[in-house]
Amino acid sequence: MKTGIWILGDQLHLKQAALQTCNNPSDVEIILIESYSHIKQLRYHKQKLVFIWSSMRHFAEELRQQGYSVTYEITEDFQHPLESWVKENQIEQLQIMSPNDKPFLNTIENLKLPCDINLLPNNQFLWSSEEFSQWAENRKRLLMEDFYREGRKRLDILMESNKPIGGKWNFDKENRKPPKGTLNTPEPLWFEPDNITQEVIQQVNSLDIPTYGEIKEFRWGVNRTNALEVLKYFIDIRLPDFGSYQDAMVTGEETMWHAMLSPYINIGLLQPLEIIQAAEAAYHENQLALNSVEGFIRQVLGWREYMHGIYHHVDADYPQQNWFEHNKPLPEFFWTGETKMNCLHQILTTVMDTGYAHHIQRLMVLNNFGLIAGISPQELENWFHSAFIDAYDWVMQTNVIGMGQYADGGLLASKPYAASANYINKMSDYCKNCFYKNSKRIGEEACPFNFLYWDFLNRHRDKLKFQGRMNFILRNLDKMSPEELETIHQQAEEIIE
Ligand SMILES: Cc1cc2nc3c(=O)[nH]c(=O)nc-3n(C[C@H](O)[C@H](O)[C@H](O)COP(=O)(O)OP(=O)(O)OC[C@H]3O[C@@H](n4cnc5c(N)ncnc54)[C@H](O)[C@@H]3O)c2cc1C
Ligand code: SF4
Repeated sequence: MKTGIWILGDQLHLKQAALQTCNNPSDVEIILIESYSHIKQLRYHKQKLVFIWSSMRHFAEELRQQGYSVTYEITEDFQHPLESWVKENQIEQLQIMSPNDKPFLNTIENLKLPCDINLLPNNQFLWSSEEFSQWAENRKRLLMEDFYREGRKRLDILMESNKPIGGKWNFDKENRKPPKGTLNTPEPLWFEPDNITQEVIQQVNSLDIPTYGEIKEFRWGVNRTNALEVLKYFIDIRLPDFGSYQDAMVTGEETMWHAMLSPYINIGLLQPLEIIQAAEAAYHENQLALNSVEGFIRQVLGWREYMHGIYHHVDADYPQQNWFEHNKPLPEFFWTGETKMNCLHQILTTVMDTGYAHHIQRLMVLNNFGLIAGISPQELENWFHSAFIDAYDWVMQTNVIGMGQYADGGLLASKPYAASANYINKMSDYCKNCFYKNSKRIGEEACPFNFLYWDFLNRHRDKLKFQGRMNFILRNLDKMSPEELETIHQQAEEIIE
């Protein structure tokens, strides 16, 4: 039977499930497709388009070098090139590794092709959807911490005689240092665009399709060799001090000690287990600090797998959930970065220039603002999906709808991640150069994060009082007079207008 393999843009590794079905490269035909109609669904970051398309083209070259016959199409949709390729090559069965994103599975299911389509289980995660569901079955709460411990035991990572190395599962308390004094942050590892990437940059710059962000400089890696270099650089240079300042934010420091691995791992250029094992090996060989190594491994073995597991576990209406009934439109400055709020301005302009911001910038500034301002979770999710180089449906729904906006009513977060300027001032240097005063709650110069925060707590007091960990904070509202709360509310309404 003549077999074809369609490789999707986020499945770029030689051991992906569909390629593994083939013993001899000359037995199969392979196709990769860049589709314009697909990228019209969102205003994607220009650098995301360059990153994915250049990585696909490099992967196609790698496959050709391995002896595969590869067709590479740049077209409007997926249906037409697939149909002609299947007919021309008399393909009887099309093998596809299942996409991670549910909407794309729908696209595949709606294809009309003159051959059988065989969907193979996706092998880019450590837990399959079925394994995650078995873990989740009959549990009252799907706690990340429980899931992570299970993963450590299952894969024997940072374990010693069935116990966690260092006697504790979690060293997070050591990982929240504020950025005081001079921090000697390591330079990130970037790359010069090669000829293939430069061609894609020209193509993207000439697109007549709404996009977002800039390509002043494109510096991301675009193949497995680059991705392995970033991993090695992270393990050697950044991992030793990754932990302590994991939550800190500093003006002009785009990446701090963060790994910058998510773009590569999310399209298959790196595999989760090789990353985890590299970090664990460095711990043993170089006697690295456990808070750094454990803190990092928890991100990949814990959070990443957990978010993916939850995405496939929840009901189909999860993306529409809106527990707080927030319906305000996304402010225009999310697209332009033009706001007097310095924290937002700094982070939004970095995202426009790179497609990247680190976890705390995403969660405690961008998302926090959306939450306390009452922005529609769906509009915010749409923006995040457009703006980030590492964004996909599977990682967006759980991180924005669930963790960031608490729109699922607490399925995955134990309390809403809402914070006032206090937190941002403690964990960053942004407030020093801001038009607003982080210490003021009301008045012309009051920081919007303050009055929005108190107004958020007051508006949702009835819902929040049942979230055990919120009661202590809510008690502060009782110390405010009704007049003060009303002034706060007015100011919150005005800034959103
Ligand atoms: C609102 C919001 C939106 C996010 N959007 C994305 C996204 O579009 N794509 C994405 O990959 N991650 C997303 N994350 C998770 C996390 O912020 C990024 O994975 C991380 O910032 C990527 O940078 P890094 O590789 O330098 O991270 P580091 O912190 O240095 O490395 C940790 C690694 O762990 C993984 N990881 C950690 N937390 C998560 C998580 N919550 N979900 C998934 N993977 C995780 C990533 O692979 C990451 O590379 C989001 C988090 C929030 C709160
Ligand atoms: S004062 Fe408020 S708006 Fe300005 S940087 Fe600080 S938290 Fe952000």
